[in-house]
Amino acid sequence: MKENTLNASVLPIAIDGAAASGKTTLGRALSEIFGISFLDTGLMYRAITYLAINEKVPPSNPGACTELTKTIGIRITTDQWARITIEDKDVTELLHTSEIEKLVSQYSALAGIRNYMVDLQRKFAKDVPSILAGRDIGTVVLPNAPIKFFLQAPETIRAKRRQAETSQTKNKIEELIRSRDKIDSSRTISPLRPATDAIVLETGINNVKEMVHMAVRHINKSKI
Ligand code: C5P
Repeated sequence: MKENTLNASVLPIAIDGAAASGKTTLGRALSEIFGISFLDTGLMYRAITYLAINEKVPPSNPGACTELTKTIGIRITTDQWARITIEDKDVTELLHTSEIEKLVSQYSALAGIRNYMVDLQRKFAKDVPSILAGRDIGTVVLPNAPIKFFLQAPETIRAKRRQAETSQTKNKIEELIRSRDKIDSSRTISPLRPATDAIVLETGINNVKEMVHMAVRHINKSKI
């Protein structure tokens, strides 16, 4: 698709949804279409989990986890998809292991970690014309975002999508997704839920092209 121009008044754009609901696919597509940056905030929580595993700091030690979080950063490159750094080293490609997926929801439920991440995310959205995807973008990080999408799809469809990306069995993937969704939706701080003003997109019914088309139509309609 050809790059469209976008009025700053419709930015930033927030995308939320459960694991494997299509947030990254939509975020990257919109980033290309509108020529703006995309920040997948899930990568930031994966990065602190990666670091905490390496440093052997358990989620039961929130003070030490918060200290570790201060080494996490965001880097913009020419492809417009924000990269994640630990002490300035790009770790983006190291963050999709099953070990991280098993533990990430426990670390991301910690207040000290979230406070630091949310500050970074808000600064990014203020400084860079962008789309942010996560669990709490429309509700907590950017409650005033002019455009918010919330993506939904049945668990079996989401697991099938993830299966295409990894070598894990379907049962294992379903188990990981179910457990993450449960913790992410029931935690006290910033639980996964749609903002009251979010547009809900059913990504199980619609294919990628239709989902992107619906989102683009909505954004174009909202241009002031
Ligand atoms: O989006 P992704 O599946 O990569 O996110 C990994 C994990 O990071 C989620 O399961 C959730 O625990 C956490 N997360 C979060 N808030 C966000 C983004 C991700 O708590 N905004």
